[in-house]
Amino acid sequence: MFFALSKGMPANPVPSSSAAIEVVGLTKRYGPGKPAVDNISLSIARGSYCCLLGPSGCGKSTMLRMIAGHETVTEGDVLLDNRNITTLPAAQRGTAMMFQSFALFPHLSALDNVAFSLKMKGVDKGQRHEQARSLLERVAMGHLQERKPGELSGGQQQRVALARALITEPRVLLLDEPLSALDPFLRIQMRAELRRWQKELGLTFIHVTHSQEEAMALADTMVVMNHGRIEQHGVPHEIYNRPANEFVARFMGGHNVIDLPSGKVGVRTDQIDVLDAGEPVPIGMQTKPAVVTDVEYQGTYVLLGFQNPGVARTAQTTAELSVMLAESQFAKRPFAVGEPVQLTWSPNAEHPLHP
Ligand code: ADP
Ligand code: MG
Repeated sequence: MFFALSKGMPANPVPSSSAAIEVVGLTKRYGPGKPAVDNISLSIARGSYCCLLGPSGCGKSTMLRMIAGHETVTEGDVLLDNRNITTLPAAQRGTAMMFQSFALFPHLSALDNVAFSLKMKGVDKGQRHEQARSLLERVAMGHLQERKPGELSGGQQQRVALARALITEPRVLLLDEPLSALDPFLRIQMRAELRRWQKELGLTFIHVTHSQEEAMALADTMVVMNHGRIEQHGVPHEIYNRPANEFVARFMGGHNVIDLPSGKVGVRTDQIDVLDAGEPVPIGMQTKPAVVTDVEYQGTYVLLGFQNPGVARTAQTTAELSVMLAESQFAKRPFAVGEPVQLTWSPNAEHPLHP
């Protein structure tokens, strides 16, 4: 077997550090003004699924492209398995890229799509087809190798794209919004499959997305970015439950940002209770008067929106605070738009948001 794909069998010896990718002081300037990527340092563990998450324009693709070697670095270094690859050409780095909607060649068979990069390298037909076939079998697509992408389902296309990326024996697979052009149903199916393949192959995946839901579903670790910088780096439940600052709390969703005399705090939307105005508030609970502005049925939950009393409601007003009530709880006391209420929560549900 000329091809070592599976766990623990890389083509080159694996160094001792547990980081697959390290970036140190990485900066990209396209011109004068604020850099697109601003002095980022980050270590990504070998064999992990890492998601780079953030709003459009925050520098995710630039970061990924510098790791891939598709973009020059202004300052800083990129290390793969402890080797400095900052100035190496893309093909010599040990990374491979998977693009939006998989970007398969429509006129080529699955087999020729997978074999394509070997053809570019001048590998003869027999050998490149043999390697491509063994990879297609690896992703359970051996029986469909002669099909063109248009004759394959979305899931099958994703597996061909995966095999195509893996044929260069990468140590790190880089994925730039691979699911964002798919319809919502397929997107959820495909992300489960990506996650399964990553674990099965034991490879390091770095996946760029602007969807916090997608990142939380996929990631072992998440890096939340904004304006070319890291806002927070950690495991999904930690970032969701303990957003470090107001940006992360608002971007992740599911949180209220509340101003207290001590500063801003985050409180999860499912940890606030709604009482009628004038109802006694249990001792020790925080409380805030509010008026219902929105009632949105969401299946198992009802999402209620609130404004401070006295704020005139217009078509433009957005809810200042939101509360998720279990449907069964809402059924007992169905609050309506315009009703005055009190919101209460335990101080234990608050976590400080750093400026
Ligand atoms: P994201 O992938 O998070 O949406 P990008 O990395 O594509 O963000 O872009 C980050 C910033 O860099 C944006 O302001 C974008 O306009 C700018 N940018 C990206 N690519 C180029 C380029 N080739 N030339 C000039 N500016 C660019
Ligand atoms: Mg992008």
